[in-house]
Amino acid sequence: MPDKVKQGLLSVVLPSYNEEPSIQRAAQTITAILDEAGIPHELIFVNDGSSDNTWDIIQDTAKHNPHVRGICFSRNFGKEAAIFAGLAQAKGDCVAVMDCDLQHPPEKVVDMYRFWERGYEVVEGVKTDRGKENPLHTFAAKSFYALISKATGVDMSRASDFKLLDRRAVDVLLAMREKNAFFRALSSWIGFSTVQVEFEVQPRLAGESKWSLPKLIRYALTNLAAFSTAPLQLVTLLGVVVFLASVVLGIHSLWQKVTGQALEGFTTVILLQLLIGSILMICLGIIGYYIAKIYEEIKDRPRYIIAGRCEGLEHDGQAEKNI
Ligand code: UDP
Ligand code: MG
Repeated sequence: MPDKVKQGLLSVVLPSYNEEPSIQRAAQTITAILDEAGIPHELIFVNDGSSDNTWDIIQDTAKHNPHVRGICFSRNFGKEAAIFAGLAQAKGDCVAVMDCDLQHPPEKVVDMYRFWERGYEVVEGVKTDRGKENPLHTFAAKSFYALISKATGVDMSRASDFKLLDRRAVDVLLAMREKNAFFRALSSWIGFSTVQVEFEVQPRLAGESKWSLPKLIRYALTNLAAFSTAPLQLVTLLGVVVFLASVVLGIHSLWQKVTGQALEGFTTVILLQLLIGSILMICLGIIGYYIAKIYEEIKDRPRYIIAGRCEGLEHDGQAEKNI
């Protein structure tokens, strides 16, 4: 059990996509809470290719708040990319990741930091409840997390992206080369001394959720494929099931042939063809999906492209393509 007391700079990474109304409030609230707790900190806003004025507001906030730094993507690369960009830029001895819509209560960052001071290296925010969601969404999320939990061996049902990681854990995550990194599962998967802090998901104060149904489905499939090969094993399982069925039906057909009733069973033939045809297509689809993922990884494209940065009181508006 860790017990030594550390102290150091806390970096807070805030992925921001079309969060015009939230940036300033997030910066003010978090700075106020961390200043009051006497925690040295920096806030890193990652503008994930917003189509509104989020980047202007981040730059403006940085002008007035020396704790604030900003990174601007050249387009929308998704929340995972934004988190990893923030981790890569963080200078802190520990790094917290939270949503900039303040649905993750900033007071909890203080509790997380205290755990880190005592020596914990991964402090995970776990949801006490999932907030307001429709039943279909809850069902889909439950099924997704059941599969992911099985793949990681860690209970992910209440997991969130609200975490605080020690520098060591951050460096381990940054050293991973996979492009389809799933932050909330990977940060549990890496191990280290871990503790959980419960938090209640707050209602969104402004703007709206960025998750549409197609985006959520893509997110679930990508992360399942990134973390689990279970669907590929399903192909084998389906093969075994169909083989067993074919043994039974084979014996049945032979019996019919021997007893001279072989002409019957036209419907069975059609049904079997349809069944086997669709199972084959599904299996090819699953294998194809993994091949597509391998193709994406092997191209070795960057996870994100940074188009600009701003830091404290100085600014660098110039486009810069790297990483
Ligand atoms: N986000 C992002 N890129 C995206 C979508 C979302 O950086 O493509 C950020 C968003 O600005 C917010 C966080 O991820 O800070 C969580 O998004 P949101 O609040 O829309 O999700 P929800 O809380 O509804 O799950
Ligand atoms: Mg939110």
